[in-house]
Amino acid sequence: MITVLAGGVGAARLLAGIVQVVPPAEVTAVVNTGDDVVMHGLHISPDLDTVTYTLAGADNPETGWGLAGETWQAMGSLGRYGGETWFNLGDVDLGTHLYRTGNLAAGVGLAEITAGISSGWGLEPTLLPMTEDRVATMMTLADGSGGGSDEVGFQEYFVRLRHAVPVSSVRFAGAESSLPGPGVLDAIGGADVVVVAPSNPIVSIGPLLAVPGIADAIRARRDRTVAVSPIIAGAALKGPADRLMRELGHEASVVGVARIYRDIASCLVIDSADADLAGAVETEGMACVVTDTVMSSPEVAAELARTVLGAAS
Ligand code: GDP
Ligand code: CA
Repeated sequence: MITVLAGGVGAARLLAGIVQVVPPAEVTAVVNTGDDVVMHGLHISPDLDTVTYTLAGADNPETGWGLAGETWQAMGSLGRYGGETWFNLGDVDLGTHLYRTGNLAAGVGLAEITAGISSGWGLEPTLLPMTEDRVATMMTLADGSGGGSDEVGFQEYFVRLRHAVPVSSVRFAGAESSLPGPGVLDAIGGADVVVVAPSNPIVSIGPLLAVPGIADAIRARRDRTVAVSPIIAGAALKGPADRLMRELGHEASVVGVARIYRDIASCLVIDSADADLAGAVETEGMACVVTDTVMSSPEVAAELARTVLGAAS
């Protein structure tokens, strides 16, 4: 069994590669829910949905979120009433949120709901929410640019403010008292290889590690855990990972990534563009594998998956 710690886009791409090289039913993703948000009363789990839609081949590669060929009638209707429309929800996507929200209200757990969504898309891998408890990633803005409040929820920072504002701290509200989701610790403990996907180390993998028990479970498997750097040549391919790392006192480089992951992973896979830093990664106490990590096609993703899984042995 292969278990992948996952945020959104970077993880989804790697998972799409992994299922090409091992039987999909043997793959489990433990997915960040710190980005989850309630909008218009609907419970939205952006990272779970990104992974689901990508594995189903239904994702929109241009936006990096949502579904291909989506329509926006419901948003137009909402706008007519002066409703908040900064968080775009497509018509087909809305069905997912209705299903999740209705079942949560009926007392069904997020893990079972996630399994229902995943099976609705015909997926063979197992997707597990990191927790069924409410954990909310909260960002403190460095210059009060939140429009009143200094602390905003992740989606307000990421979508409404377009992550164009400096952050002075991040916390995962509710994490201290949360429990790992059903199956999460077994998926880590029983995995042949644990993969830390190329996701944002601060706001995608950070929440997972903040759920009590998860970091210890991975640490216990450190020798079988391989991380893939989301930072390439000092920058994120997309999104604020590099800026957030710098703003929070990390070096935005593969060496900075190694310092964040060295306690939980024994190997870091870095991009060929960073080949000259392999020695510096090893100095941080991790084995280092250099390869092409920009998953611009399914073939590159499969090749990267093969290298990552091979790096654990
Ligand atoms: P989000 O939740 O959708 O924002 O996505 P993630 O948590 O997965 O984080 C986005 C990160 O994934 C960024 O730092 C990107 O640099 C990284 N990423 C996305 N695609 C790739 C890729 O093909 N290769 C690598 N190495 N990193 C990627
Ligand atoms: Ca995310």
